[in-house]
Amino acid sequence: MEDYKKYFPIYANHKDLAYLDSAASSLKPKCVIDKIDYYYNNICVNVNRGVYSLSYEATDLYEESRRVVAKFINAKEEEIVFTRGASASLNLVANSYMDFINPGDEIITTLQEHHSSFMPWLNVCNKKGAKLVYIPLTEDGKVTIENFKKVLTKNTKVVAINQVSNVLGYTNPIKEICKLAHEVGAIVSVDGAQSVPHMKVDVKDLDCDFLSFSGHKMCGPSGVGVLYGKYNLLQKMPPVEFGGDMAQDVYEHEMTFKDAPYKFETGTPLISEVIALKDAIDFLSNIGLDNIKARELELKKYALDKLKSVDGIEIYNNNLDSSLITFNIKGVHPHDAASIFDKNNVCIRAGFHCAQPITRFLDQISTIRCSFYFYNDYSDVDKFVKSVIEARDFFLSF
Ligand code: PMP
Repeated sequence: MEDYKKYFPIYANHKDLAYLDSAASSLKPKCVIDKIDYYYNNICVNVNRGVYSLSYEATDLYEESRRVVAKFINAKEEEIVFTRGASASLNLVANSYMDFINPGDEIITTLQEHHSSFMPWLNVCNKKGAKLVYIPLTEDGKVTIENFKKVLTKNTKVVAINQVSNVLGYTNPIKEICKLAHEVGAIVSVDGAQSVPHMKVDVKDLDCDFLSFSGHKMCGPSGVGVLYGKYNLLQKMPPVEFGGDMAQDVYEHEMTFKDAPYKFETGTPLISEVIALKDAIDFLSNIGLDNIKARELELKKYALDKLKSVDGIEIYNNNLDSSLITFNIKGVHPHDAASIFDKNNVCIRAGFHCAQPITRFLDQISTIRCSFYFYNDYSDVDKFVKSVIEARDFFLSF
């Protein structure tokens, strides 16, 4: 396997690290860290404001990043809004689109969602007298088109759905969902936090109306996220934050706003973070998303085969759809198991992963999630499986 760890300085500082929590946040390559450093050492000023060369340079790099993000998902640059992260993007859509929601309207979502995907719409429903409707999941927790059709009605105004679930890792049939939703006049807001870092996502091909994702899960800095929106929708939607930089003309009792995307970017933005997001995307593009996906699936297969041979393990997603495995060690609380992983320098996530409904669907209060990215290798998996066995044997010996 190609050694990608050499690009990530964290491995030089933690020689024995098996980082298997990339679904929570990815590691950051040197090129991204260097770009942040470059900005603070060489530019360090605000964008869109200063009438001097340094500010022009900052603005140029900021806007270049918008172009690179747009190309990465096959959008136009004016369709890219920079936010604080996927949660902020998902909230922005709901808080702004709320103006078009009326009592009796229906918003479709799923039990698979991360809290950040459906809670903003639950809030909209509570405020507007609309109804949140859940697509029934199959026994193993999947969304099917057949079940989507059961809840899609002429009252459906919005479909809020993840492309890849952060607990079960299934890839949802977004393209077909968009087609059917559009036939009844509904829009589709896609949570791409777990898909965009790992697979080629083309918003034009999907024909989704919105796509939200975070920089920090795709080798970029934390604190920056992206909202893609179809331009005609972004233009008709009202801003949700008001103030510096998004205003056009402001009087004592009147105000107008800039066009999208700028009307949604209030105040001084995350300058170094946005600028360095370009380097993360270039880095991923150079490796190739197909290579990234293939490597993750190879690691997952290797891990699943090993894990299945260990007695006393309950795996909740046996699929080879994505790069994460969610499981429990029978009779051992995930947080107890996590302490053994930590002792062995293996980073995994234990808990409900900000997705209580799907954890309840699995009839659990908490699970262990091991998630891969392309920088992982077989040795990480070996350490992980060794820790699983150690945790089982240690806690079940009492
Ligand atoms: N959606 C999904 C599917 C996620 O996995 C996450 C992060 N765990 C989010 C949304 C929220 O992302 P962020 O914390 O970067 O805002």
